[in-house]
Amino acid sequence: AKVLVIGSGAREHALAQTFLKSPQVTDVFCAPGNPGMVRDNIQTIDIAELDFDGLVEFAKDKLINLTFVGPEVPLAKGVVDAFEAAGLTVFGPNKDAARLESDKDFAKHFMLLNGIPTAQFGSFTDSATALKFATKLGFPVVVKQIGLAAGKGVAIVNNQTDLEAAINDAISKDGRVLLEEFIDGEEFSMMVLLGKNDRVIFPVSQDHKKIFAGDKGPNTGGMGAYSPVPHIDDSLIRITERTIVDPTIKGIKAQHLDFNGVIYIGCILDHGVPKVIEYNLRFGDPETQVLLPQLKSDFYQLTMDLIAGNPVKTEFQHDGFYLGVVVSAPGYPEKPEQSIPMPDLPKNVVFAGVQKNANQLVSHGGRIFTIVDHADSLKNAQQKVYAELAEIDLSKFYYREDIGYRDI
Ligand code: ATP
Repeated sequence: AKVLVIGSGAREHALAQTFLKSPQVTDVFCAPGNPGMVRDNIQTIDIAELDFDGLVEFAKDKLINLTFVGPEVPLAKGVVDAFEAAGLTVFGPNKDAARLESDKDFAKHFMLLNGIPTAQFGSFTDSATALKFATKLGFPVVVKQIGLAAGKGVAIVNNQTDLEAAINDAISKDGRVLLEEFIDGEEFSMMVLLGKNDRVIFPVSQDHKKIFAGDKGPNTGGMGAYSPVPHIDDSLIRITERTIVDPTIKGIKAQHLDFNGVIYIGCILDHGVPKVIEYNLRFGDPETQVLLPQLKSDFYQLTMDLIAGNPVKTEFQHDGFYLGVVVSAPGYPEKPEQSIPMPDLPKNVVFAGVQKNANQLVSHGGRIFTIVDHADSLKNAQQKVYAELAEIDLSKFYYREDIGYRDI
């Protein structure tokens, strides 16, 4: 079988690698991919992720059996609708369902309607009413842009000046702003594969959003992840399934948002009670890099079964802990330095922001690659990753030195 992965990051590199492990899969293409993928026999195709006509034509020409969409922007713009209209098999939400991620106001009303626990909120088109509501909430207030903002659309404000600035900024971008009660608690993520008649819940993972150690500094796309998460125990996972995962899937069916694809549920513990912070309708990056290696089942078969509506039986490795550290260009997230030559890298690296420059691989973007290891304990997995990083000449790059610290 032939698989097409849409996207170009480390998440897509990990997805492509996992498909290649299936004995049924002969070819994996990635559009547009990145030149770091090539060493793993992934065929990169120079078609942009928003060139839906080009992607559909390629999938038809090459007789692609399955297309898997990595990032949120093509989903929000309807790439799945384009593939389905052409009669192609694709895994991802259609444009309507993708609003659970791309329209935060829609997502909050979905949660309210379906009794899914989440932070108190209000959404407003004018700043005066928004300010009044914020006064009721009291500081800190969470101010969110409604639309996709690549992880940069949320401000947690502690004073009137910042509050007004954040509200006005959000309204100027989307014509609306979402305000939320601030919840002070541990966060964790649940990744679910949704099919026609069945679903698969992945082990819990923990991302590290901030650029600096100890969760300081500005937000990024994610600087590292690990899974499973020791402090989220089985009973909490079962509660989250019952109070969040099941009602979410029920709500999707009830509101005719049915799709085959990923639901990423960002959860937060409010005095021990899990609540939803956000939905993403795709795998997380870097969480994917520590989740997919845990899958023992044939990923291609699993995805095809979910789409076909067959019952699935999924096996995970249960062989310890996986930890991934993202290496970025200095200056990320504000202004990453470009075109830094890449050192030699080990096999357990998945690439993101790289390009070829006169036959040399150089950095191109903010997050450059993720390195992943696993071991019997989280501490050993962490030590393994950092020992490997210390062996590589990364003097021109940056990475957080404390990934996994909450559980170690
Ligand atoms: P992402 O990059 O994770 O997709 P996003 O821009 O979609 O981010 P959210 O996930 O809604 O935004 O929020 C980003 C982060 O802000 C959360 O991971 C959490 O740390 C913090 N946050 C959001 N809402 C709340 C809240 N109600 N209470 C406390 N913290 C919050």
